[in-house]
Amino acid sequence: MKSALILGITGQDGAYLTRLLLEKGYAVAGTSRDAQMANLGSLAALGVADMVSLHSASLTDFRGLWQVIEKVEPQEIYNLAGQSSVGLSFEQPLETFESVAVATINILELLRLLGKPVRLYNACSTECFGNAPEPASEETPFRPRSPYAVAKAAACWAVSNYREAYGLYACSGILSNHESPLRPARFVTRKIVSTACRIAAGSGERLSLGSTNVVRDWGWAEEYVDAMWRMLQQDDPGDFVIATGKSFSLQDFTAQVFAELGLDHTEHVDTNPGLFRPSDILYSRTDPSKARELLDWQASMAMPEVVRAMIGAEREMLSAKERCI
Ligand code: NDP
Repeated sequence: MKSALILGITGQDGAYLTRLLLEKGYAVAGTSRDAQMANLGSLAALGVADMVSLHSASLTDFRGLWQVIEKVEPQEIYNLAGQSSVGLSFEQPLETFESVAVATINILELLRLLGKPVRLYNACSTECFGNAPEPASEETPFRPRSPYAVAKAAACWAVSNYREAYGLYACSGILSNHESPLRPARFVTRKIVSTACRIAAGSGERLSLGSTNVVRDWGWAEEYVDAMWRMLQQDDPGDFVIATGKSFSLQDFTAQVFAELGLDHTEHVDTNPGLFRPSDILYSRTDPSKARELLDWQASMAMPEVVRAMIGAEREMLSAKERCI
């Protein structure tokens, strides 16, 4: 039986990846900063919370991480942990850099010294490209425009450096935004869907958004974790852009959500300049053709399908809540 260790298992991607790996017959272990206090809601929502072994680990703590790896003896490690909000990274730049870039170097250094044939997946982001009016591929230079993207770019470069310098089997998945009902409400897509569903149910509230002319590529998280796994099954390690290849503005996303609910978004949405970021990416366009060719992976859901699936899940949650009251 293959063994996998998911660092940051309690998050959105951690939960979907856990389910996928269990279906493939893996023994799955995972880390949280504090396993006793961990929020297992996402794992529980997918029915897999009781099927994994959970360990406490700070990823910047060399000794603690070493102990977990010795105990779990994984063939594959997926590093999904760290501060993952672009917006919050402007308020917590050091925490973001430490939990993303320093942590990744710590993992790489540990794997180099252990000398075991462990395969590492590292969660990178298309945010690293900065403004990409033309589709960005693995060859496109990084021009990060947030502390989050700076940290992810540093981690991504560290991965490719350890691969070249020490022959480590380490890959970065350069993933575009991917959504699901497990997305926390502080992420704008979930905020839009949740608020619009409440408005449609008669709450009478208004939706407050920052800049809506930003263009992004939104996919479905469940499909993206499959790409992570495929990356680690290749003969040779490499980096891959994982995205739908189809970009839309946040305005389009918002309009689609309200239209699905039979509403006109212009009647319910306010622009709040207080939500503008100090520096933002206007265009994020992607070219995932390498993943299609080498991983045989292609997203089947782009923004309109993602919106429909999120609304369906949100409505189910709302009616389950009503049943409980
Ligand atoms: P989540 O935020 O849902 O999960 C990340 C996990 O990391 C959390 O569950 C948490 O686990 C841990 N964590 C959170 N903050 C910190 C911190 N400051 N220091 C250390 N650990 C922390 O992320 P996703 O599942 O959405 O994403 C997985 C990875 O993929 C992340 O690295 C993200 O940046 C990256 N990514 C995500 C994209 C997306 O659209 N979702 C797009 C591109 C990249 P605990 O509290 O249990 O310790």
